[in-house]
Amino acid sequence: MSALAMKADPQAFEQDGLTSRAVGAYLGLAVGDALGATVEFMTPREIQHQYGEHRDMIGGGWLNLRPGQVTDDTQMSLALGDAILRADGVEGVSIAKAFDDWLKSKPIDVGSTVRRGIVRFRTSGTVQGPVDDYDGGNGAVMRVLPLAIAGLGADPKTLEAAALVQAHITHNCPLADVGMMTVVQMLQRALITPTNAYQDMVALAHRLGRYDKAYDITKKREENPSGFLPDTLRAVFQAFARTDSFEAALLDVVNRGGDADTTGAILGFLVGALYGVDAIPSRWLAKLDRNVADACDAQARLLLQLSPLVSGRELKVSQNPI
Ligand SMILES: [Mg+2]
Repeated sequence: MSALAMKADPQAFEQDGLTSRAVGAYLGLAVGDALGATVEFMTPREIQHQYGEHRDMIGGGWLNLRPGQVTDDTQMSLALGDAILRADGVEGVSIAKAFDDWLKSKPIDVGSTVRRGIVRFRTSGTVQGPVDDYDGGNGAVMRVLPLAIAGLGADPKTLEAAALVQAHITHNCPLADVGMMTVVQMLQRALITPTNAYQDMVALAHRLGRYDKAYDITKKREENPSGFLPDTLRAVFQAFARTDSFEAALLDVVNRGGDADTTGAILGFLVGALYGVDAIPSRWLAKLDRNVADACDAQARLLLQLSPLVSGRELKVSQNPI
């Protein structure tokens, strides 16, 4: 299904559940981030030794978090969503300023590629770095959810341009770009309607693996995934393909360890979009930082209103102020 086809046929999306799925995606992101951060940089063996199975929102970890506290994955998503809402579209300079404001707030964790991109913007004003194969980290994908919601029903070329504007502020790597676009397509597929969505999302993951072997999920089980996007997404997609609920998917991926806050965040928004907000275990939602949960709920609803699917207006995209 193309995004254009979705726009042409408003009956093709299930309006009633759309808000639940968008809010579920946002809260899924935050829940996955907060759950996974506890075991970030641990191996599966270390997790098993310490927790048996890591299954509760207990905080701690190398960042010494409060239970339910989120990290850069959720914070950068909220910064991106806020910038899209303020600019009434996807505008590179607004987004880069929002990222810069976030960095100035002295966040508890910042990825090295993210920091380099923001500092480049701060010193030169440019919102795109040169193509760099070392920009293949997962930092532009962990925060992509607001763009996927705002871009629901957008023309596919417009959607891709918008996704690249936000990504290239910090990460300009063709291999990572294709991985990001697959995540956006999977997300949008889940948001539109749950009917056959799971099968279509798994098929999209396999299609990416055929396009580039780095993303092939039929390889061995990915454990202790690094922050390199193909490693991250193999863990995420493998966990997605072997589970059938929000809880089972998240437990599968965070117990693989490694960059577990980001695998949790990405899988959290995918399964949150697929299964809806009611599928998120209440013991996790109850622990989630209340201000973050409220911001996630509000942004999901406002970004939906901005989307071409709901507003009937095409998404505005520009690197510079329009
Ligand atoms: Mg993080």
